[in-house]
Amino acid sequence: MRIVMTGSGYVGLVSGACLADFGHEVVCVDKDERKIALLQSGGVPIYEPGLADLIARNVEAGRLTFTMDLAGSVPQADVVFIAVGTPARRGDGHADLSYVYDAAREIASSLNGFTVIVTKSTVPVGTGDEVERIIRETNPQAQFAVASNPEFLREGAAIQDFKRPDRIVVGIEDERARPVMEEVYRPLYLNQAPLMFTGRRTSELIKYAANAFLAMKVTYINEVAELCERVGADVQQVARGIGLDNRIGSKFLHAGPGYGGSCFPKDTLALVKTAEDSGAPIRLIETTVAINESRKRAMARKVIAACNGMVRGKTVAVLGLTFKPNTDDMRDAPSLSIIQALQDAGACIRAYDPEGMEAARPMLRDVTFASGPYEAAEGAAAVVIVTEWDALRALDLPRLKGVMQGNVLVDLRNIYRPDVAEAAGFIYDSVGRGMPP
Ligand code: NAD
Repeated sequence: MRIVMTGSGYVGLVSGACLADFGHEVVCVDKDERKIALLQSGGVPIYEPGLADLIARNVEAGRLTFTMDLAGSVPQADVVFIAVGTPARRGDGHADLSYVYDAAREIASSLNGFTVIVTKSTVPVGTGDEVERIIRETNPQAQFAVASNPEFLREGAAIQDFKRPDRIVVGIEDERARPVMEEVYRPLYLNQAPLMFTGRRTSELIKYAANAFLAMKVTYINEVAELCERVGADVQQVARGIGLDNRIGSKFLHAGPGYGGSCFPKDTLALVKTAEDSGAPIRLIETTVAINESRKRAMARKVIAACNGMVRGKTVAVLGLTFKPNTDDMRDAPSLSIIQALQDAGACIRAYDPEGMEAARPMLRDVTFASGPYEAAEGAAAVVIVTEWDALRALDLPRLKGVMQGNVLVDLRNIYRPDVAEAAGFIYDSVGRGMPP
């Protein structure tokens, strides 16, 4: 199959490279000149484990190419994916669909022969209808079908997720799209991945309902963690105790500083807006959004409390900036709110992240970036672990303590044992691990 991927970001690039790896002929398109130039010269604009090798292999095999020329690529394609960003619209939280609609317009004018246009971007219910309307209006002669195929991959494990998905959801309104989409994913369902066909609106809603559910699960365990701290219980054991129940499941029950990243915050907000506008408000998600928002600054108050209620003029080292490990993605990372709240309280911030510092630099003001965790901790009153990178999981705690001026360690991911941290001389605090009275 000849496939065009419109948008070569985290989703487009991974999907494009994986589809090429299945044997399809894929052209990845982007408007960003720097991204395309870098890809054409053998570089990779994002950090995602395994992606550089996967791209190199498929470029070498002649199945994967990169271009800015969408209009020139579409006429040869059997399938054109739209994988552009759908950020929260400034001011009201609705998904900003302007990139999707611009792409649809551009694609429409160069369609040639029957083509399936597939929204892989996360888009609100009804977007497929509008994409179809735009294409018909722009090019009344075009032979096409519009399908919805939301992406469920996680950054940091994106290739594995794309190649071994729990399910592939495809929403169609035109039966001509079915055999085409079956052919796109044929190599996958030979591995038993269920390919689920639904109506287009249902498919669009599945993505939001899934993300909002996961965000709610994380938020639930974060509230339980808060309670654990008050009553002297251990949230990790509570999570294990409930997670072993198959009806609940153990995933997404890790208490921490609140969810972040490029999907959960904007997708929960967008679902709240869609539900409100449709007269069927989803109060559980409205509350999830509010709890999560306040949690991030509450984490800064936790740090301040551990520093005897005062961080003015003190140095606080923040270890881990990205919203989760194994990505360089800084969009809506909890570290941004935590650092801002600590700065508001007068702290000086030194920070370190294994992959995220380049993306973090323009998003953070008055932060000193260090070359490693120990360098970041030099002279600090407190160290805060925000992201559980492997490289931060086995720090030499006595060495860390040795370079600091103070002795506070706040571990927002519960990666250290309290007794070990205390034995290294730290005043240690973590999340949801209360002391029995
Ligand atoms: P991204 O910002 O990394 O990438 C989007 C890319 O599209 C950018 O490189 C941009 O330059 C390009 N673009 C915009 N308009 C274009 C146009 N008209 N023609 C060509 N290129 C264009 O975004 P992302 O993280 O890859 O997310 C894309 C979509 O996938 C979003 O809707 C997101 O919600 C969804 N999604 C993301 C993830 C994730 O983990 N990042 C997971 C599942 C779904």
